[in-house]
Amino acid sequence: MSDACIFCKIVAGTIPAKLLYEDEQVVAFADIAPQAPVHVLVIPRRHLASLDGLTEADRPLVGHLLERVAHVARLLGVAEAGYRTIINTHHDGGQEVYHIHVHILAGKRIGPMVVR
Ligand code: AMP
Repeated sequence: MSDACIFCKIVAGTIPAKLLYEDEQVVAFADIAPQAPVHVLVIPRRHLASLDGLTEADRPLVGHLLERVAHVARLLGVAEAGYRTIINTHHDGGQEVYHIHVHILAGKRIGPMVVR
């Protein structure tokens, strides 16, 4: 756990979040500033700062994380219609919170990806 990390605090239960799924390795909760009707973040309990920096040792956890993203999408009832997943990395990728997280965006047709 990183004391300064807001998502570690959500994992620890010291700041509130709308939890939607949890197991021994990952937690899913509603994004506080949703960009789509469904906007959920799925994170590992363990503090991993960014996609950049993952090592071979992280493969089992990251594999589980990604499989649970698909599970959470099914739980939310959006899997059949579809959803977008995003992992932002560092400044140019738009990463604001340095605890790796997968965004699930769904609930409407999300158009082609446009990079401005
Ligand atoms: P990123 O830009 O990929 O780092 O995304 C960080 C996301 O975390 C943003 O979509 C924020 O709205 C979201 N966020 C920040 N603080 C919280 C919080 N306390 N609870 C839920 N979502 C949060």
